[in-house]
Amino acid sequence: MRILEHRIGRQYQDTLDRVETITQPAIRLVEKHMRGSVGRVEIVVTTSSGVTDLVKQAHRDLLDAKVTSDRHLGRQFGTTTLNSSGVLVIVNAQICRGRAKEIDKTVVHELVHAVQLAKPGARDRILRGLRNNYRLEPLSRVEVRVLNRLVDQDEREAARFERLARQL
Ligand SMILES: [Zn+2]
Repeated sequence: MRILEHRIGRQYQDTLDRVETITQPAIRLVEKHMRGSVGRVEIVVTTSSGVTDLVKQAHRDLLDAKVTSDRHLGRQFGTTTLNSSGVLVIVNAQICRGRAKEIDKTVVHELVHAVQLAKPGARDRILRGLRNNYRLEPLSRVEVRVLNRLVDQDEREAARFERLARQL
């Protein structure tokens, strides 16, 4: 596990400090309760525009393709996706600024996604979804529906585990 910062100014130092303090305990909590490993995870603290840029960069490297997307992820507290070495967790310091509870919940929520993505088969599934989203290899409507259902399921599970943040 490593924690990096990307385009972070002094005004976000508190958020970065908090993420550095809680990440290891949060990993222990999430791994214990989910009975799984977060795998090779990289955690990056950045700004709203940084979130979108980092996701795009990760997908470009991962898919080895020029990816274009008009999706803006900058309004979310955080996001988790695959990168070429494992899983990338991104915390949006701009949105989290001054909201300690949200930082804790975000880190826990995204680490739950890291465990989900480290499970057998998950990486392939997410890759197929990404190739479809970027129109590299379209999936059938049935396949898309199945993948979306799993995404929703994972999202509900991550939301449920946010309560663990109270133990940090
Ligand atoms: Zn989520």
